[in-house]
Amino acid sequence: MKNIYLISLILLVFSLSCQEKEKADLVIHNGPIYSVDVNDAQVEAVAVKGGKIWKVGSFKEVIKFSGDETQWIDLKGKTMFPGFIEGHAHIMGIGANLMNLDLMGTTSYTEIANIVAAKANTLPEGDWIIGRGWHQDKWNNEAERSFKGFPSNDLLNDLVPNHPVYLTHASGHLGLANAKAMEILGVDGQTADPDGGEIFKGFDGQPTGIFNETAHTNARTRIPKPSAQWLETSLKQSIDHILANGITSFHEAGSGASWVELYHKLLRRDELKIRLYVMLSGDDEDLLSDYFAKGIFIDSLHRLTIRSVKLYADGALGSRGAWLLKAYSDAPGKFGHNVRDMEALNKLTLAATQAGFQVCTHAIGDRGNREVLDMYARAFEVYPEKRQDNSRYRIEHAQHINSQDLIRFKELGVIPAMQSIHMASDRPWAIDRLGQERIDEGAYVWQKLLEQGTPIVNGSDAPVEPINPLASFYAAISRMTLKGTPEGGYEPSQKMSRKQALKSYTLDAAYGAFEEDIKGSIEVGKLADFTILDQDIMSIEENEILKTQVAMTIVGGKVLFERK
Ligand SMILES: [Zn+2]
Repeated sequence: MKNIYLISLILLVFSLSCQEKEKADLVIHNGPIYSVDVNDAQVEAVAVKGGKIWKVGSFKEVIKFSGDETQWIDLKGKTMFPGFIEGHAHIMGIGANLMNLDLMGTTSYTEIANIVAAKANTLPEGDWIIGRGWHQDKWNNEAERSFKGFPSNDLLNDLVPNHPVYLTHASGHLGLANAKAMEILGVDGQTADPDGGEIFKGFDGQPTGIFNETAHTNARTRIPKPSAQWLETSLKQSIDHILANGITSFHEAGSGASWVELYHKLLRRDELKIRLYVMLSGDDEDLLSDYFAKGIFIDSLHRLTIRSVKLYADGALGSRGAWLLKAYSDAPGKFGHNVRDMEALNKLTLAATQAGFQVCTHAIGDRGNREVLDMYARAFEVYPEKRQDNSRYRIEHAQHINSQDLIRFKELGVIPAMQSIHMASDRPWAIDRLGQERIDEGAYVWQKLLEQGTPIVNGSDAPVEPINPLASFYAAISRMTLKGTPEGGYEPSQKMSRKQALKSYTLDAAYGAFEEDIKGSIEVGKLADFTILDQDIMSIEENEILKTQVAMTIVGGKVLFERK
């Protein structure tokens, strides 16, 4: 009571003495506030004005700037951080997952087929059923992985004969189609494999329903497009889901023209809510030439930024599409492959660089990473002024790096955008693909990169993984699966410290988007984006982190999510 009296008195004194002065729109106080500034200071209170951080410091200092109109947020012991930045995910994929069948948690093929059959009962015959997120490694029944480790579509054909079905794998690199879908896509035993992909065929020469890599991308592009209204609804659902997970900024890893148009539409109506940093799809030539001609786009309120291009060099480790220098440990003679012609990527890199756009290239295997580093080094020969800080070329995933190439990230100023949650999910089987020696040398080697001064942009790659930043944070500092195994973590020397993990989700992620001057820490002048958690993840027991919940998400000083 004494405190309240004292505070009221101070408030009164200052409201009398500062009547003519400007007042804060919002003051937040009464809980640990991690600033992530150069001194890693904790502060007591933050005042917001005009959507930006106006004052930071002790409660006593900050309340001087409050007035009658000032809104107060009492943290009541909850913890506040700079707004979390998702450094690599797919916003429309998240939306589609919310609208379509989410198969992420499924543990058997039978379960999946039953889910699809139940959906079919709600839709007219002939309507497409689209799903995503299944993974055969989560199935206990060996018989369900009937062909080359993957299912055949027999069960789906029996249960769902009259609706075309296409179910994308959790990796996003392959899909399972039923017979009806293959009939519509015009695929049969005579259909040849496309370059860089495979339509699995059984011993009878007939397709089993599995479409790998480019065969999968081809199939996807031929599935009828959802309506504009459907896309808009799914984007809005995605945005709300992102906010509910404490994310204030989002690096969108590859958008085509129709999606970019939709982002602009929501921006015009002030419905974008989060801050979107868009990588233009390297496959959309018209979109690229349009943007390369008109230049980068940044709106005055920093809601939508388009200054980056997404390219793909190789595939994924799970489907053995990641491009390796030496053969897969569990598939002799197989090296994975590039998914695009490297010369074409080279040309795109030069064109993007000339137009002032950042290049972000997907590379997972050590060969894929080396090829991309070589490509970036060549671009610097053409544009020497773009070296280091000016280009901020990124490698998306950078999961497996040859030890000789590690230092090149530093030398070339290339930013690895690595999703620590991928280590938690994939490390248990990645050892089969790579063997212990290669794992030790360069797989998910966060600490080797950080120690040489290379910042890491973290993220989730949602919808490949759930977007929850706390799961990625936990994986970063524990190097365990989300089930808490193995004790002590995989390759524990590569764990991030909590400070490093927090930075990879805030200030370093901002750096990966040229935004470290406006985001990523709680400092005067920066955007008032905050993530409030119900527990202090910087100090609680490791196993408490996954139980932590987002209490509030604030973007530009406005509360856009609050857990009731
Ligand atoms: Zn991705």
